[in-house]
Amino acid sequence: MKRLAILGSTGSIGTQALEVVAAHPDLFEVEVLSAHSNDTLLVEQAIKFKPNAVVVTDESKYEAVKAALHAYPVKVFAGLKSLNEVVQWDTVDVVLGAIVGFAGLHSILAAVDAGKYVALANKETLVVAGELVMKRAAEKGSLIVPVDSEHSAIFQCLVGESSRTIEKVILTASGGPFLGKKPNFLVNVKASHALQHPNWTMGAKITIDSATLMNKGLEMIEAKWLFGLQNEQIEVTIHPQSIVHSLVQFNDGSLKAQLGLPDMKLPIQYALAFPHRIHNDFKRFDFKDFPKLNFEAPDYKTFRNLALAKDAMFKGGNAPCVLNAANEVVVHAFLQNKVGFMEMSEMIEQTLEQVNFIEHPTLEDYENSDKEARIRVQELVKKSQLSTY
Ligand code: NAD
Ligand code: MG
Repeated sequence: MKRLAILGSTGSIGTQALEVVAAHPDLFEVEVLSAHSNDTLLVEQAIKFKPNAVVVTDESKYEAVKAALHAYPVKVFAGLKSLNEVVQWDTVDVVLGAIVGFAGLHSILAAVDAGKYVALANKETLVVAGELVMKRAAEKGSLIVPVDSEHSAIFQCLVGESSRTIEKVILTASGGPFLGKKPNFLVNVKASHALQHPNWTMGAKITIDSATLMNKGLEMIEAKWLFGLQNEQIEVTIHPQSIVHSLVQFNDGSLKAQLGLPDMKLPIQYALAFPHRIHNDFKRFDFKDFPKLNFEAPDYKTFRNLALAKDAMFKGGNAPCVLNAANEVVVHAFLQNKVGFMEMSEMIEQTLEQVNFIEHPTLEDYENSDKEARIRVQELVKKSQLSTY
């Protein structure tokens, strides 16, 4: 029986993780749940899954959660800092990091410091501070198993292999809802269009990141740290059907891939159950439904976020942290129709130019770079024509 701390339990990954837990009551039990502002769902989940504790990170929701759970034997905590404590409890075996954005970093670091097994969905943690997180994980004996479908695919391909034999990894990208579109179309795109992903239903931020291809750029950086790769070993190919979840090419030219229907419950379940592979009743892939699987090169010129992320990966230091912070702010603004689709890349690029480059950042440097980037990019957002409406 594994006891889980599910951070971000009310989100897309969090709720799907709870479906996996509900389907395997003999394998998993919930020790901790956390959510930011959706107190109603957090309370519902707590009543159903009977955790030892819940953490509501938006402190203004504490009283409401406390009152709703007063008749239940559940401890209620508030604030991001509480997360850092509960993930270190002896009663937690697995920490599922499913908070979105930089906000997820500290709780993952706390879990790593306690030597926990981490199932990691929160890719921003590795984008911002991958070098530091992986180094600490190695020191503390913490195993980080990816939940992101591409990285789960690579992880699965590497079972039984030595990482020294990897020649390269190929991350697949669906291309998002605007595959094949050009800038003259994209300038007019609104959040409501960009939220229509062809293959996956996900949280708002990652859905926009998928439409701009920033998601794939973040995933390149995520792969670099997870698998200890050189920048040159990471490739991206567009694969609109999202059946091949990613590939690894080895030093003898062999390619291994992991395939399946796009369903995040599969990589979530794999990460929670690892090293075991457990049964489920998810719909199975059938070649008859997919007579053609297509692959093509990404359009770095149109989807500039991918190029910016790749450049930041090569540049290293605090560049990915600045890129991530700027991206979080512009995506938020785009969701509120305050900046245009193409403007997002321009603003991220300008922020990267404005924030001081630090080659070997400390955790404090990352925190400061994140803050500074947010301030700078917010200034740019305010100047956008759209934001004056
Ligand atoms: P989501 O927006 O649906 O859920 C985010 C969760 O984080 C919610 O529970 C929310 O309460 C919590 N949260 C939000 N802001 C917070 C804050 N400031 N402090 C503490 N908690 C906060 O997001 P999601 O789609 O589930 O994605 C979660 C993470 O998983 C992201 O990093 C994303 O890139 C990654 N991921 C998601 C998918 C997917 O299919 N959704 C696939 C791969 C990777
Ligand atoms: Mg992914």
